[in-house]
Amino acid sequence: MNSTPSSQRTVAVIGAGISGLTCAQRLQKAGFAVTVFEKSRGTGGRMSTRRTDQGFQFDHGAQYFTVRDPRFQRFVEEWQQEGVVAGWNPEIGVLTKGEYEPKQEETLRYVAVPGMNQIGRHLARGLDIHFQTRVRPPVREAAHWLIYDDQDFLLEEFDVVISTAPAAQSAELLVASPNLSFAAQQVKMTGCWAVMLAFEESLGLPFEAAFVNDSPLSWVACNSSKPGREKNVETWVLHASPEWSEEHLERQPNEMLFQLTEAFWSATGLAAREPESLTAHRWRYAVPPEPLSERYLFDQELQIGACGDWCGGPRVEGAFVSGYELAERIIATVRTTSSDRQG
Ligand SMILES: Cc1cc2nc3c(=O)[nH]c(=O)nc-3n(C[C@H](O)[C@H](O)[C@H](O)COP(=O)(O)OP(=O)(O)OC[C@H]3O[C@@H](n4cnc5c(N)ncnc54)[C@H](O)[C@@H]3O)c2cc1C
Repeated sequence: MNSTPSSQRTVAVIGAGISGLTCAQRLQKAGFAVTVFEKSRGTGGRMSTRRTDQGFQFDHGAQYFTVRDPRFQRFVEEWQQEGVVAGWNPEIGVLTKGEYEPKQEETLRYVAVPGMNQIGRHLARGLDIHFQTRVRPPVREAAHWLIYDDQDFLLEEFDVVISTAPAAQSAELLVASPNLSFAAQQVKMTGCWAVMLAFEESLGLPFEAAFVNDSPLSWVACNSSKPGREKNVETWVLHASPEWSEEHLERQPNEMLFQLTEAFWSATGLAAREPESLTAHRWRYAVPPEPLSERYLFDQELQIGACGDWCGGPRVEGAFVSGYELAERIIATVRTTSSDRQG
């Protein structure tokens, strides 16, 4: 059980992706006692880096991010100064059945260094995070929230709970607040099959990233072209389109490896060759094509809420802003309540 001073409000954040970590950091800085629960072994969520059995590393989820919001901009500038983030300026274009068309554009793309998971690691500093802890829907009891793990073991009790899991999972976690749960249920998230390939020799392609037309694939990128990555092998990440991924979501990874690697050769026009390593990963909930218009959900009476890229989002920036704004809302509520008491 918590041993925090009784005046300090306790918050459970479910999920250590960018929205959860941003929210947790902001709340902790404002004096809340924050605990983060994460079902996997590390931070980052969909902004993570996969190390294959052969030791090759790939950003198999988020590929890069862009920045528009001034609050996110401030953080990204700091991260750049600290060497956590760098610009990525790939030769980029569009691939259609073996034809490559370069794309003229001004988009500033950023990546974390040396892998996308670095932002999660950075944001996790100083936070109390319980890894490999999948939590069950919180239970309301006497103005508190009881948090149990999936073995029905009572972990702790909290004043406030925040879910940052993808929409369908948040709908379950928010079940004690029917309005919030209903709102989360309305957001569909599409899946994505990702394939990771490593080659000892360069493929010699005239681009480092491409959007793909008329193919099961929608995106291919040379992971090793990003700053700070190992350069002694050439690594590629292939993403299947949302439509194709949804249609094949329940298929076996080996089958997807074969089909998507074939699609890569056909999209690039290269003759097939044997990679050093090939791995497939399924993201069941990859992106929300139509996120909620609200930046976050919060039930003031029950003190339970949700944030993530499916609120206001989508993408890395949207997830950051969602977590940031929910924290601000909780901080403002506590300030208003305590000034009401004093008045
Ligand atoms: C294939 C792919 C490509 C993408 N490409 C881009 C891109 O190029 N640019 C871009 O900006 N964005 C991209 N995105 C989207 C981007 O990754 C997300 O918008 C962002 O990372 C979402 O962050 P989040 O914190 O909202 O959620 P998540 O990162 O999903 O974090 C939620 C966390 O909650 C945890 N969790 C869930 N349920 C529980 C539970 N019951 N108990 C404990 N923990 C739980 C999960 O393990 C996870 O770590 C991509 C995503 C994918 C999958």
